[in-house]
Amino acid sequence: MTDLTLPDDPDPPDCADDGVWLTCIDCGHDVAPFDDIVYTCPECDALLEARYDSHPTFDAFEGSGVWRYSAALPFETGVTLPEGATPLHYVPGLEEELGLRNLRVKHEGMNPTGSFKDRGMTVGVRVAEELGVDRLACASTGNTSAALAAYGARAGLETLVLLPEGKVAAGKVAQASLHGARILEVDGNFDACLDRVQDLADRGEAYLLNSLNPFRLEGQKTIGLEILEEFRDDEGRFPDRIVLPVGNAGNTAALYKCFRELVAGGDLAPGDVPKLTGVQAEGAAPMVEAIEEGNDETRRWPEVETVATAIRIGNPVNAPKALPGIRETGGTAVAVSDEEITSAQRALAGEGIGVEPASAASVAGLRKLREQGEVGAGEDVVCLTTGHLLKDPDAAAAAGNDPQPVPNDTDKILRHLAGENVEGGLLSRLRSLL
Ligand SMILES: *Cc1c(COP(=O)(O)O)cnc(C)c1O
Ligand SMILES: [Zn+2]
Repeated sequence: MTDLTLPDDPDPPDCADDGVWLTCIDCGHDVAPFDDIVYTCPECDALLEARYDSHPTFDAFEGSGVWRYSAALPFETGVTLPEGATPLHYVPGLEEELGLRNLRVKHEGMNPTGSFKDRGMTVGVRVAEELGVDRLACASTGNTSAALAAYGARAGLETLVLLPEGKVAAGKVAQASLHGARILEVDGNFDACLDRVQDLADRGEAYLLNSLNPFRLEGQKTIGLEILEEFRDDEGRFPDRIVLPVGNAGNTAALYKCFRELVAGGDLAPGDVPKLTGVQAEGAAPMVEAIEEGNDETRRWPEVETVATAIRIGNPVNAPKALPGIRETGGTAVAVSDEEITSAQRALAGEGIGVEPASAASVAGLRKLREQGEVGAGEDVVCLTTGHLLKDPDAAAAAGNDPQPVPNDTDKILRHLAGENVEGGLLSRLRSLL
């Protein structure tokens, strides 16, 4: 099992470029980062991760947003809109309901295209420029395609996105479409889309920007850096736990890497590392299954279903990086029902925070773990909400109040508000249809 710390003295191998290289998480093989296009280990096909010749410390960071953390990234800056610097909301109502010492919500829906995927894309597209590719591609449950389309457009590169037919929320398809991506609707689920786009990438047809690409996760590490810095500034300590929704487990892997690098750099004591706590929908929970059964790998779920389409994933590609992260930090994983997700989405909305269903899974999972006594009342917890409410307007409308038709008449509107049935309202409209 992986150590919480990286090697003390990361001597760059010969293949390093400006102090950056890629290392296989299984066999330790080192790869040049920008010579050839490579996604997985050329020796054993396991996942790669980025390594640097120095470890980041908080005093090295300056500026705002993702590129504030360039000391922990492969480049000084990139194709930026700009992203990051998202709010860490106080949620006093939920904090009281859940009986926690501190509860904060990191709202990643406030990124330029409305999800945390922008953090990975600003770095990923910068790497694509370095490699000199001309076509970018991804499989997506929606948000990756929106981010890829926007950042690709900004960089002047062609974009291709593969989406599971009929299973992508309306706002996300609209974004990919308007930003000019070529959208292919695949007759299959997300996992099938990823199989197809990996084939296209292997045949050299496009540069893959799914979270299998290790540089995406470098950008997403900055979620953890922002949470730790801001929570410490407000409370004088680091949070005990970070709860997040899990799809491909890229964020879980990225946060774990963030913690390991800070531990190696000496700014985070191993005992202060937040417990990574993953939440999945009951209808798509291979990570929860692996944690509960103590497996080192996830079983591919052929059929997956949930209202939280962003995490409707049966084969989480980053599981080998994320499972050790949950275990080594003393965290856990839990599955929640669609009803629990919708209820948490309403609770967040009641605090003024509008999120899409997958995001609310974090709060739904925390609720469940509090009820089960797995999370203690004395804990400081940060929940990650990954995407904006407007991403999935249909889910929001279904979870919210129905509009009430009224006549164009102030007196009648007042009578309607007082609870009377007024002509011109819904009833008379229904009558007129009969
Ligand atoms: C991509 C996404 C997720 C899943 O994140 P992973 O890193 O794949 O686990 C969760 N919520 C939203 C809104 C997303 O767009
Ligand atoms: Zn290998």
